[in-house]
Amino acid sequence: MCHDSFRGSLFLLHCKGSNKMSELKKEEKKAKSKTVKTKKSEETAEKEKKRTIRKVVKKAETVKEEAIAEVMVDADGKSVEDEKKAKKTTKTKKSAVKKTVNEEIAQSVEEIVEDLGPRRSVAFIGSECYPFVKTGGLADVMYALPKELVKQNCDVKVILPRYKCIPWKYQEKMVYRGEFYMDLFADGRQYYVGIMEYEWDGVVYDFIDNEELFTSGNPYTNMVDDIPKFCYFSKAALCALLYLDWIPDVIHCHDWQAALVPIYLRTLFANSKLSSSKTMLTVHNLRFQGIYSQDAIRYWSGLPDYVFNKDVLTQNYNDANMLKGGLAYCDMITTVSNTYAGEIQSGFYGEGLDAHLRYHSGKLRGIVNGIDCDIWDPETDGRIFRNYVTEDVVENKKANKLELQKELGLGQDENKFVIGLISRLTNQKGLDLVNSIVPQIIDGNTQLIVLGTGDPGYEDSFRYYENAYKGEVCSCIQYDEDRAHRIYASADALLVPSLFEPCGLTQLIAMRYGTVPIVRETGGLKDTVDPYNMYEDSGNGFTFDGYDAGLLLDAINRAKTLYFENRESFDAMVKRDMTKDVSWKQSAAQYRELYLQLKP
Ligand code: ADP
Repeated sequence: MCHDSFRGSLFLLHCKGSNKMSELKKEEKKAKSKTVKTKKSEETAEKEKKRTIRKVVKKAETVKEEAIAEVMVDADGKSVEDEKKAKKTTKTKKSAVKKTVNEEIAQSVEEIVEDLGPRRSVAFIGSECYPFVKTGGLADVMYALPKELVKQNCDVKVILPRYKCIPWKYQEKMVYRGEFYMDLFADGRQYYVGIMEYEWDGVVYDFIDNEELFTSGNPYTNMVDDIPKFCYFSKAALCALLYLDWIPDVIHCHDWQAALVPIYLRTLFANSKLSSSKTMLTVHNLRFQGIYSQDAIRYWSGLPDYVFNKDVLTQNYNDANMLKGGLAYCDMITTVSNTYAGEIQSGFYGEGLDAHLRYHSGKLRGIVNGIDCDIWDPETDGRIFRNYVTEDVVENKKANKLELQKELGLGQDENKFVIGLISRLTNQKGLDLVNSIVPQIIDGNTQLIVLGTGDPGYEDSFRYYENAYKGEVCSCIQYDEDRAHRIYASADALLVPSLFEPCGLTQLIAMRYGTVPIVRETGGLKDTVDPYNMYEDSGNGFTFDGYDAGLLLDAINRAKTLYFENRESFDAMVKRDMTKDVSWKQSAAQYRELYLQLKP
């Protein structure tokens, strides 16, 4: 009897299984027809969608089979003792399984149909990219944005110089893809261009190889060396695309180092296959523009005379400005936050290009950066002392704090308010303000940890403060990724009082680690940090507007007051920060939207 009943259950399950199969097929058909209807013109996108939908349905099938197998085991186990009960349990479980499986398919198919628009191919051209070479936020963007775009139905190739300083562990894995010679300078000399390829996480990295030009340990040295180097790089990147016969829909250039690309494309490459590609130029920091004598840039770039006019490359009669030229010739300009997109059209933030940007403002957009949430994840970060999630952040952050205090020789006390500062030490970062109030910040209950390198003046003043406030101030004058992770995980607050900040990544990383940002309301800092509102108990950090040391001190004191007098609200902000979406998902979708607008 028991045996029969089991067989009966099996039969029932089989029937239900076939029902589910037909439902699955229906769902699949529905999704396919929906896809076909909406995306008829995009043949490649169609194929991709179908493939992904098939994958999801297959995955759901596996889930279903596993779940059914589980139900069967249960039914079998219980049938001897209580057949009725077992049947009932089986029935309930089966309907639960059916519901879950159907919901999962519906949701996944919906997501796919919603997410996957037409496919776009994009070539990123820029001068640095994590983890190969990094001097600042540009490298993070060049790594994380392509990775996210790949998930959003884009083909991405990243083109970079093959610097000698790229760690050997990456160099040795590069694959030779070809070589050719290219003319460049007006002297007619032929330059070697090698292409070395590296594939990682669905993104293809093509390194432009030329030992003569990229031998320096640092990607940037001085303008006399850098300008010819990046003229070569911009032209070689386009030649490499032609050589590889990879014609992207969009060529996405980054900063002045790649700003000549749109000009080359519309002049020397105007009759090539690449002429159908559109160009986007992203300004990560308007301060750096690639300015040098017009005659020299004319010689080094080999560009025709007619682009050396005041609307394109020429500046102040005698100079040429590479960024200015790129801004004029590209199809779309983006910068890394909405506020910064507005600010750079004003005299104060415009770095001499405000009128030029106002003129081109019709094609100027702002999109904030995100961060790579796999690298920056307090739950899995192998570089921090103690991992944590929102639920246990308070106690684990204290443990991290104590360990870091020990590592840095600071007084070990979990109750001290620890402020971090992780930054290039330049005047952009508001360090004059910090420098002038360190004695007021250090009040016996507060510690300051600085991590950065840069202008010797700032390096020395922070060294001085470390000496003057032993055990309370620690100045790590170095570039150290591991230490940066540990500071994000251990500090209570992070200072970003920048004079200007196109987007800023440190405040985003800080929030991900539950470290409250204290920022000046400028550029991306304004767009990403909501000020604390004591009446509603809302917001992500403490902000101030004017570039004034007194205002910075006031913001720090407001943070301290909340920390020492209302810890519950402070901890609630820590948790709010950790759950804020600082990933690339939304921003990458916005870039994709712009790529779609740039129809070839
Ligand atoms: P910028 O690009 O202007 O330097 P961002 O805030 O956009 O500033 O990006 C800075 C990036 O560099 C962040 O990932 C930050 O953690 C990292 N960083 C800055 N200084 C250091 C340092 N001394 N050691 C390690 N990482 C650093």
